Amino acid sequence: MESSWTPEELAGRAIGRLVPAPSELDGRDDRSEPFVLRPEAAEALLALRAEAAREGIDLKVISGYRSFARQRSIWNRKVSGELPLRNRAGEIVSPADYAPAELLEALSVWSALPGASRHHWGTDVDVIDAAARPAGYDVRLVPEEYAPGGPFALLGAWLDSTVGDGTPFARPYFADEGKERGSAACPVAPEPWHLSCRSAAEEAQRAFSAEVLAGILRSLPAGEEVALADRVLADPEGYFDRWIRSAFVR
Ligand SMILES: [Zn+2]
Repeated sequence: MESSWTPEELAGRAIGRLVPAPSELDGRDDRSEPFVLRPEAAEALLALRAEAAREGIDLKVISGYRSFARQRSIWNRKVSGELPLRNRAGEIVSPADYAPAELLEALSVWSALPGASRHHWGTDVDVIDAAARPAGYDVRLVPEEYAPGGPFALLGAWLDSTVGDGTPFARPYFADEGKERGSAACPVAPEPWHLSCRSAAEEAQRAFSAEVLAGILRSLPAGEEVALADRVLADPEGYFDRWIRSAFVR
């Protein structure tokens, strides 16, 4: 039995037991983060990559481990207006027009709260088909890219038939696990490209709770504040159940 994950590991504030990931999995454009994974996730991804190759798919990770600092930068810049903020319909909106509670809701549809991203764990990755990526194509990670007619349609269809109940990977923000896409049960926008290595992610999930999240947010050093953390801390259980536990894989 592995020892439990520390809050620092859960929050992407320590590399902890993550190991360098095999370079053949690396399809990232932005290489500012270390390319690391939990060992069991790396092994399972290599096996999935080999399976995909038999279908002519060059499965690569376009986004893997993300640190707290990186997630915080994205989140805070959406709140400050430096990065585009979108409503649930995907339209760009102004943060100035939103009350804090509405702003937290809009942010959480598209971005994980810093400290609570599954990308902090080294268990979850976003994948593309590098063989189907047109030269110079800027991957946007939108569902249309993985639907019929999109560049990654073959990968999307293959994932539909390959990833599901009882398989090594789950799609926490998609229709498997008995959840409807973008439903009230899991209100995060659908992400057919986001894979979670079940065995490793389940360990992280067991160690994670509203109490742990509140502890992380309350103990951030000066200069590492997370925008709207006070709104989350007003009801950590409510936030955790709605936005984090709803995507737990099992
Ligand atoms: Zn993702």
